[in-house]
Amino acid sequence: MSLARKNIINLIPYQTGKPIDELRRELGLKQIIKLASNENPLSGGSLCARTAIRKALTEINRYPESSCFYLRRVLCQRLRLKPDMIIFGNGSDELIDIIIKTFVEEDENIITADITFLEYQILTQIIGRRLIKVPLRDFRYDLKGILKKINKKTKVIFIANPNNPTGTYINERELKEFFKYIPGHVIVVLDEAYDIFVDVSDFPWGNNYLRYKNLIVLKTFSKAYGLAGLRIGYAISCPELISYMERVRPPFNVNSLAQIGAVAALKDKAFIKKTKNIILQGKEYLYSQLSRMGLRFVPSATNFILIDVRRDGQNVYRGMLKFGVIVRDMKQYGLDNFIRVTIGTSFENKKFISILKRVLTERG
Ligand SMILES: *Cc1c(COP(=O)(O)O)cnc(C)c1O
Repeated sequence: MSLARKNIINLIPYQTGKPIDELRRELGLKQIIKLASNENPLSGGSLCARTAIRKALTEINRYPESSCFYLRRVLCQRLRLKPDMIIFGNGSDELIDIIIKTFVEEDENIITADITFLEYQILTQIIGRRLIKVPLRDFRYDLKGILKKINKKTKVIFIANPNNPTGTYINERELKEFFKYIPGHVIVVLDEAYDIFVDVSDFPWGNNYLRYKNLIVLKTFSKAYGLAGLRIGYAISCPELISYMERVRPPFNVNSLAQIGAVAALKDKAFIKKTKNIILQGKEYLYSQLSRMGLRFVPSATNFILIDVRRDGQNVYRGMLKFGVIVRDMKQYGLDNFIRVTIGTSFENKKFISILKRVLTERG
């Protein structure tokens, strides 16, 4: 007999992108590139952030400020928000968990897409709530399909915008139309983890929709801001919803170095500009190379690309590992013939293409 709860026994845990050091331990390779977790490819992240963190190291014997005072102040100025409209998390992952625990009663349900960020599903299952998955249409969130699934017991709808792993997005017109039909008892979560990378003009920034009191917008410092290793993200919503989430948030959930790094990273505009340029150039390069290879891919508004490799994606993933290139297979998402690649530096993108070619021809 197992001591764990039923939901835990049946749980398939989140598979992270393979860490570089793990592959190094396994294969002893010298040069490894990781294009598996949609991180910022510039090593060390923002120099301003690193410098600020180094200065703050003398304080690590103290608990962090639980309120994230300085970071809150900078963000509120930047986004023109009242201080009580933000809550910080140990990555936006933690905020997803806090949202579910704060708002969803035992007999209530959560709706999301069938192919989207897996944490929505995993965190829902851990506390035994019901998840309704609406299939994507043409790799995009099907908002009409989601509206049809809403019932009296629906509490939260998670929308990754842009979506991971497809890179597609919901536009302004679609989101406005969607909100017209959202009942007052339903909370819509727009997860904007890839906001900085968005390179389209009709993107509906969640901040512009805060007039809806049942909207929560999620942001993270893990992707464009280059602080994935520090674990920090935040949510924006009306003061009432934020105050409930604050009751659930663990004290000291955001460490002091993350707070200091985030303040500095926010101010380092040159770093963000450089990051955006690298991603845009890399995207063009990868699109043209993939097209030349005759591979289909989903056009992406973000820093990663979902590619149809027309054979078992897990084999392609494993084949590439041997050459020191880490991408992501999509089996856990039910996309057996796909891989997802994060756009890297120009060097990394070239290596990715050359190894992909090699692995695909090897396996015919
Ligand atoms: C990467 C990612 C996150 C998680 O970010 P953290 O802040 O590192 O926890 C959240 N949502 C989506 C859609 C992501 O792709």
